[in-house]
Amino acid sequence: MALPVEEWRLYAARRWAELEPVLRERLAAASLHDTLRLGCGLLRPEAVAVLRRLCRRAPAGKEPAAARFYREEGNRLFGRRHYGTAVRLYSQAASHEPPGSPEVSVCFANRSAALFHLRCFEVCLEDIARAESHGYPDRLLPKVLLRKAECLLCLGRLQDAADALSVVENKIAMDGIMTSPTHQALLKKLSQLKIKIHEKESCPEPARETCGDVQRRSEIWEENDSISGASSSLSLNFDIERGRHLVASQDILPGQSLLKEEAFVSVLCPGESRLLQDSSETVWDTRVTNADLYCHRCLRQLLASVPCRGCSYAKYCSQSCADMAWEQYHRTECSLGALLLTLGVFCHVALRTVLLAGFAEVSRLVEWSHDDDKDLHNPEARCKHLSEAPDTRAGTRSIPGCNDNGQYQSSYQAVFNLLPHAEKHSPEHKFLCMLSVVAICKQLQEAGLEAAVLNQESSEKWSKPKTCEKTSGELSPELKTMAEAMLRHVLQLQCNAQAITVMQESGSGDSAVVNKKLVRLATAFFPVLSLLNHSCCPNISVSFSGTAATVRASQAIPSGQEIFHCYGPHRCRMRVAERQQLLSQYFFECRCQACLDELESDVKSVASMRNSFCCPSCRAPVQGEEMLCCSNEACAISVSRESLSRRLWDLQQQIKKALELLRDRKADQAIKMLLKCQMDAGNFLSPGHLLMGEMEDHLAQVYATLGKWQEAARHLERSIEIVEMHHGPSSVEMGHELFKLAQILFNGFAVSEALSTIQRAEEILSVHCGPQSTQIQELQEMKTCLSELPRSILQRT
Ligand SMILES: [Zn+2]
Ligand SMILES: [Zn+2]
Ligand SMILES: [Zn+2]
Ligand SMILES: [Zn+2]
Repeated sequence: MALPVEEWRLYAARRWAELEPVLRERLAAASLHDTLRLGCGLLRPEAVAVLRRLCRRAPAGKEPAAARFYREEGNRLFGRRHYGTAVRLYSQAASHEPPGSPEVSVCFANRSAALFHLRCFEVCLEDIARAESHGYPDRLLPKVLLRKAECLLCLGRLQDAADALSVVENKIAMDGIMTSPTHQALLKKLSQLKIKIHEKESCPEPARETCGDVQRRSEIWEENDSISGASSSLSLNFDIERGRHLVASQDILPGQSLLKEEAFVSVLCPGESRLLQDSSETVWDTRVTNADLYCHRCLRQLLASVPCRGCSYAKYCSQSCADMAWEQYHRTECSLGALLLTLGVFCHVALRTVLLAGFAEVSRLVEWSHDDDKDLHNPEARCKHLSEAPDTRAGTRSIPGCNDNGQYQSSYQAVFNLLPHAEKHSPEHKFLCMLSVVAICKQLQEAGLEAAVLNQESSEKWSKPKTCEKTSGELSPELKTMAEAMLRHVLQLQCNAQAITVMQESGSGDSAVVNKKLVRLATAFFPVLSLLNHSCCPNISVSFSGTAATVRASQAIPSGQEIFHCYGPHRCRMRVAERQQLLSQYFFECRCQACLDELESDVKSVASMRNSFCCPSCRAPVQGEEMLCCSNEACAISVSRESLSRRLWDLQQQIKKALELLRDRKADQAIKMLLKCQMDAGNFLSPGHLLMGEMEDHLAQVYATLGKWQEAARHLERSIEIVEMHHGPSSVEMGHELFKLAQILFNGFAVSEALSTIQRAEEILSVHCGPQSTQIQELQEMKTCLSELPRSILQRT
């Protein structure tokens, strides 16, 4: 997903192999500047043709046929009262219609009807306004205006509702003849509404108490003078071995906020199903992707999206987000949608980064880097220069990325100074990235967007790009500068890309217990967060809200200790060998305490001990690599790892099937199947295996859908034991499990247990996600609710 699609990677690899050895050698040793100078001409017409063919699999334009398909599907589901799905399908239909057309206004009007049924009145009103502004057909207007009046009524805005009604009345009167059945129905509705308004006016509802005043604990926060967004308890240090890194300059408490940073740039990850497998036949996909669920710009969750004026891919939470994105980058990206999907998120982030920075700043820093390249031939002098930087604040001036005042800020300069490791990437990989970046720049040039890229002039001028300009194929010097910066960013991303993740609700959504899973939403540059080095046992947690990241200490950190982030390979999830393998993409060998312990002693990692097999005959632990022998001497059975792995795979397929049964609301069958899986698993998996916990978790979920809260709680408690073994008692994973348990106990009126579980969940989650996170707020609401229960219910428990 991060990298280009496979076919393009293979094409680039083939081209690389065909190059003359001399050229290959020169490219391998070249600086970024020279790579581009040498490589620009290597994007041949045949390569462009290959890309054009691949782009057909990722359609991002507006297609009338797709619009029709989605609208009809939407109507069908609306008829079956699946309003949530209907909203989504109407959104997809709207994204394929030209703006300002009667067709798009019909999509908005239909969507407003579904939103009304979902009781989302504010959003419904927005959609009605959209339908009107896009030229909704006059003869259909009365029905929509009545809906508007009803919405206003439901929102308690009586005067507005009455005004809206008189507009409808006038309209109907003006239209004359009132004999058609639709008109009759409208009139009936109208008089009903009038009565409702009158009733409400004569007995106004008591003003609702403002219930949002749950005491919000304020957090201690003092901002650092020299690092933007960082707490004053951190300092920026530099040495040759560790590079730039952040250190606690005073004792830090668990849960304390250490960093609050807005992404310099972020790009929504399209999700798995964006690329069609076969280009010969168009199959409109009704599966949901990230692009349908989150705002293209601010990553807020979408209910009724605003489509881009030019493409079907970008969708926004509001018109103002759409306008801002257009102004900042999307007017350039819009026509490149399919190409950017084909070349992957890293290329897309690289392009958006230079667009946000602007040509002037990009070219200033690219020039500056050329001066620096001259030092490259004398690395010793360079290192010496850097290592002289003392650890005092005055010394931060010479730390790369800091401005003249010695401040490190979330700026393009800081992004530019993240290490691209140009000399460590394989030459083939650099070649692939170079070809991809050049392909983007060539398309920009051919689409007549070069001026827009370079000058950042107002959008009106470029709303109609001239596409006729035939070029010789050579990039202009300015675009070459942009390309060079983009190549740098693509290479940087391998080590510095930060995933923006959210807990996404999964499953049917109508169950009392919400099942959430962590999903990757976007890829971003956070130049300050990037200062943190990796450890397989980190001392912080990162949480996201929109495009902003917050870092909190997950444990007490004494003054002088380094702050560590985990780039992915965590000691609880992987064995040291797997971790080191994964970390090789960051070009370093991890020397964290967990790695040292596991490498230097015979200590088996937590991950390997708990995710292991047991003897199928006597269930004692097994030992060995390829062939596993039972540790019980009396048994002496041996079995190949391969056969057990196959059994594990089969088991996972069975579990998937059980979950499908649950989705089809066949809970009893799902339970039967899961119990069978559990029996089977007990015969060859160690009791602490993560999968054992997952099965308990699934069982809890099924029982919860049946309202059997006690059974659900019993299974979840077993799952929690296993999660605790793997991730530790104060891990964020534990927090999420306890949150689920609290919901189950709450629903089952197990008051005292619920209260103590809420307490535990709150303690853990406030450390990782902060006291203001939605999960903490939900826990507090549960607590309030339980304390207000009448005594009669409390006594039952
Ligand atoms: Zn938005
Ligand atoms: Zn667009
Ligand atoms: Zn490590
Ligand atoms: Zn045995």
